[in-house]
Amino acid sequence: MKREAEAKVAVAKRVSVTRRSQRILAKVSATPRLKQEETELELPPTPARSGKPTPDASISPDEPKIKVEYECLAKTSTETTVSALKTELDGELYSKSISKQGSNSPPIIKSELQAVVSPSSKARQHLEYASNPKQEDEVPPNVFPPYLGELEEGQPANWIEIYNEIVRMRALITTPVDNMGCGRMPTSLMNNSAVLDRRTFRFQLLIALMLSSQTRDETNFAAMTTLHEHYRAKGYPGLCLDAVLALTETEVDKCISKVGFHTRKAMYIKKACEMLAQNFNGDVPQTIEEVVSLPGVGPKMGHLLLQNGWDINLGIGVDVHIHRLAQMWGWVPKTDKPEVTRSALEDWLPQQVWADINPLLVGFGQTVCPIKANSCDVCTLSDGLCDGVNKKLARTPLTEKRIQKISKLRGNLDGLVSLRMAKDLLEAERLSSTMKKED
Ligand code: SF4
Repeated sequence: MKREAEAKVAVAKRVSVTRRSQRILAKVSATPRLKQEETELELPPTPARSGKPTPDASISPDEPKIKVEYECLAKTSTETTVSALKTELDGELYSKSISKQGSNSPPIIKSELQAVVSPSSKARQHLEYASNPKQEDEVPPNVFPPYLGELEEGQPANWIEIYNEIVRMRALITTPVDNMGCGRMPTSLMNNSAVLDRRTFRFQLLIALMLSSQTRDETNFAAMTTLHEHYRAKGYPGLCLDAVLALTETEVDKCISKVGFHTRKAMYIKKACEMLAQNFNGDVPQTIEEVVSLPGVGPKMGHLLLQNGWDINLGIGVDVHIHRLAQMWGWVPKTDKPEVTRSALEDWLPQQVWADINPLLVGFGQTVCPIKANSCDVCTLSDGLCDGVNKKLARTPLTEKRIQKISKLRGNLDGLVSLRMAKDLLEAERLSSTMKKED
């Protein structure tokens, strides 16, 4: 009886975290690794985000039920494997889709990924959306296709599980790279509304990449916005080659003054623009050798530029997050050189995920697992998949204080907080029912 009472208290404690009366009914698909069955739970609402705007303030907290279904069917080349990843989430996480739907009916996002052997950026072109079937860029930037191939010789035994678990977590969170990363920058600069011609898209992407070294996405985005607005005020349609060529290096420097090494970067930008005009017909080149011949552009930027600008997938853009995480999971040897990590990853990582691995892991590293501030208590890799886990933190129940702290981190981790709370609740209920049976 005593144990039953303790279990009830445990349940009550977890439930007491929910102060708002409104409940969001959500279905949480357990990971295949952890549980085979689906569990339907009354989830507590996601916690208030002290001071931070929610992704879409237009979503009323009184809306009774918001469900998002993400379904990804993948076919291998032999079409024998069909796997489904299905996650139903708090609608807040897909605010963009919801606001476009503009109704209480749950938006349904369906995607079909064909030919997993093709580069993922190409594969994404097959994604179909029930709400807007033609627009490729309606794919939420935090949604990535899972890897559905088999483990091959020479690959780390844990990589597919880790990769797919992060795919799943990324769909539950939003991160700076999703809207302010270089690959998204041209679209975000235009408020997601205007369709840029590909040449201008590539140019803005190049400038964003040149500004990005040793600079946070948020700072980079602010600098790019200032540049863009500055050129618009001068009568140009925005940040474009003609505008940068016509105006002075000092103007560029002034607009990007919040970015690290801005004076040197302004000089590189002006020189690179002159090279584009003189040697490359005003466009970004298409080979890695030509791209890295531009001043201030290294291989990491070069590969990201080719992948996002030209759909050319020749290498992996390894930044500090990928460099650190890949070592922590034992995917690559310990090294302080990101170039060694890049080369080691390219040796075994299937080429089809080379483009996705950058935004996937960068967003994860920015939010769930930043250096010295990892949130192992809400990270689903903490249950046996990650060697770097802080076990004490992972075991500690979530308190309101901790939830408030998580809400102040970069990005929005509410989806993972809700998932952890749901798991704790489920566990407590199971414990309670076991004890009842024993009694
Ligand atoms: S260190 Fe913690 S937060 Fe980072 S991946 Fe491992 S379990 Fe997740």
